[in-house]
Amino acid sequence: MEAAAASEDCCVKVAVHVRPLIGDEKLQGCKDCVTVTSGKPQVQIGTHSFTFDHVYGSTGSPSSSMFEECIVPLVDGLFQGYNATVLAYGQTGSGKTYTMGTGFKDGCQTGIIPQVMNALFGKIESLKHQIEFQLHVSFIEILKEEVRDLLDPTSLNKSDAASPNTGKVHVPGKPPIQIRESSNGVITLAGSTEVSVSTLKEMAACLEQGSLSRATGSTNMNNQSSRSHAIFTITLEQMRKLNPVSGDGSPNDIMSEEYLCAKLHLVDLAGSERAKRTGSDGMRFKEGVHINKGLLALGNVISALGDEKKRKEGVHVPYRDSKLTRLLQVSFCQALFILILRKSVKNDSLGGNSRTVMIACISPADINAEETLNTLKYANRAR
Ligand code: ADP
Ligand code: MG
Repeated sequence: MEAAAASEDCCVKVAVHVRPLIGDEKLQGCKDCVTVTSGKPQVQIGTHSFTFDHVYGSTGSPSSSMFEECIVPLVDGLFQGYNATVLAYGQTGSGKTYTMGTGFKDGCQTGIIPQVMNALFGKIESLKHQIEFQLHVSFIEILKEEVRDLLDPTSLNKSDAASPNTGKVHVPGKPPIQIRESSNGVITLAGSTEVSVSTLKEMAACLEQGSLSRATGSTNMNNQSSRSHAIFTITLEQMRKLNPVSGDGSPNDIMSEEYLCAKLHLVDLAGSERAKRTGSDGMRFKEGVHINKGLLALGNVISALGDEKKRKEGVHVPYRDSKLTRLLQVSFCQALFILILRKSVKNDSLGGNSRTVMIACISPADINAEETLNTLKYANRAR
């Protein structure tokens, strides 16, 4: 009840995804310490109880309904010109990459991104005789507040020989990618590859290539630990040819055109565990600090957007505090604008629901209880 009321007022929809206990945890004899209240989007851990918009997996709704309930509205919104963002948040090993589908290991069948691709091309197929479409894909990662291009063709060729886990080969002399804001507020990534795609297969190839070149490094916690934010962005451009019928019913000679462009950001965030828990050398700690910078800024942006009182007071939203929030700024701003407009004109055709979905990924294992609680607290700020 509270959840439904809250999501109407919120820019951000929050879903919790509880993965099952996995092999290692079972071998260690871990116990399941997360309880989902039956029939409610409510999670309990210890004495703490949280209500979100949705809870999936474990004993909540099946995760197969997550796509229908949380993601399909965003894909539909793209065709109406609305930007959207999906964020997977959680500690390393909680299932972010599995949920988003940004892991090469899990192939291109499971996860949100492959399903988005299917839905997108299905819709395009049914509309293509009326509308001209253009699709672009970019895939970047933010590591230590530096943006790296995961689809850079030069680095891909060179890393062919390298193992996927040793990551990318640095291309000497290549200027770093920069986030630029044009005078009309459009954020662009100067220097990153935008691949034009026209088939599902081509888009899937981008996901696969980028996933392979994504930098992963080992920490004490998990040797596949991801310390970077990976952002897969789909840009959908539409050109509708409108051929208005003139007053006497005959087709008008003058063709008018409608152009729409919208971006969908699909973000596999860096592990949210604290730097101190990785217990590594100074270098790794610095990375931890930088990761926290992005996640910290994201938490502050989301909570500023989610707080109606703050919004009314025009409280500063700290988009500029990190590269991650800078990149997602346009998507967030549009969501806020729609929300304010909906409230002032009470117009539901604005496609009310949130344009940002945060999926808080958690492990049910008791050894992860402290981080799971941190994740739920962070996600709770977004509501
Ligand atoms: P993260 O990206 O958050 O570090 P991963 O997505 O790599 O976590 O997941 C960690 C492990 O848990 C992987 O072995 C993955 O296959 C497994 N896993 C994650 N989510 C699920 C799930 N819903 N069902 C089954 N196994 C899962
Ligand atoms: Mg991962």
